[in-house]
Amino acid sequence: MAFVSMKELLQEAKEHHYAIGQFNINGLQWTKAILEAAEEERSPVIAAASDRLIDYLGGFKTVSAMVAALIEEMSISVPVVLHLDHGKNPERCKQAIDAGFSSVMIDGSHSPIDENIAMTKEVVSYARARNVSVEAEVGTVGGMEDGLIGGVQYADIGECERIVKETGIDALAAALGSVHGKYQGEPNLGFKEMEEISRVTDIPLVLHGASGIPADQIARTIRLGHAKININTECMVAWTEKTRSAFKDNPDLYEPRAYMTPGISAVKETVKYKMREFGSSGKAVCTQKIEI
Ligand SMILES: [Zn+2]
Repeated sequence: MAFVSMKELLQEAKEHHYAIGQFNINGLQWTKAILEAAEEERSPVIAAASDRLIDYLGGFKTVSAMVAALIEEMSISVPVVLHLDHGKNPERCKQAIDAGFSSVMIDGSHSPIDENIAMTKEVVSYARARNVSVEAEVGTVGGMEDGLIGGVQYADIGECERIVKETGIDALAAALGSVHGKYQGEPNLGFKEMEEISRVTDIPLVLHGASGIPADQIARTIRLGHAKININTECMVAWTEKTRSAFKDNPDLYEPRAYMTPGISAVKETVKYKMREFGSSGKAVCTQKIEI
């Protein structure tokens, strides 16, 4: 398989106090930029496709085949996880796994905890037999989630403990004040709850909506057990700013390569910057055997 499970990568990261970035895919050139950044930084990477974007991107099989082909053509040697972000239900997670994804998130956070646990259990039993890692969520990340705009709802510590113990997931997204999209004002994360959740669950935690959180707070989340940090908005903003100014500077542009390239370079730089901030640069163990 071209992709690796995130289970061992996150355990290693947690043990050595760094985090691996999840960067969302927004098309082919975007994926190429993420992979180039990872290779240059010698960093493991989690390339993710959000469930709500799967159809836009051409379907599960297209995404999987595209990323696998890029890894091969670009001779990418760092570990790459292909992850489904915010999987809507067990069926969608199974479709992603069947298409070759090496990791899935089942987002049952909008359902009562018993339903969330039942859904997550179903995904874990399917995934485990195929060496695919599973992330689940408790609480609600603010802003846009699953196409719904909502407020922040802190994860309940008892529910976090239950979902980890009853399902055997590999990583837990415990919502503690982070927001998808742009922050209105300063982020306000629940560090006290974070410490407690990390202690009772003892598995790698996942920070959603990390774009815009200052570096010192990111470092604190890593110290408190986060081993996976999701970035999408910062890459999208970097891309859009460059693309907008390309048209502003030259309104006659019509060749996609000419107006796409500056934005794609900005995505690559953002990814590299984040890998350094998360401490994952230089942490890749080469997955390609060197022929002698
Ligand atoms: Zn998220």
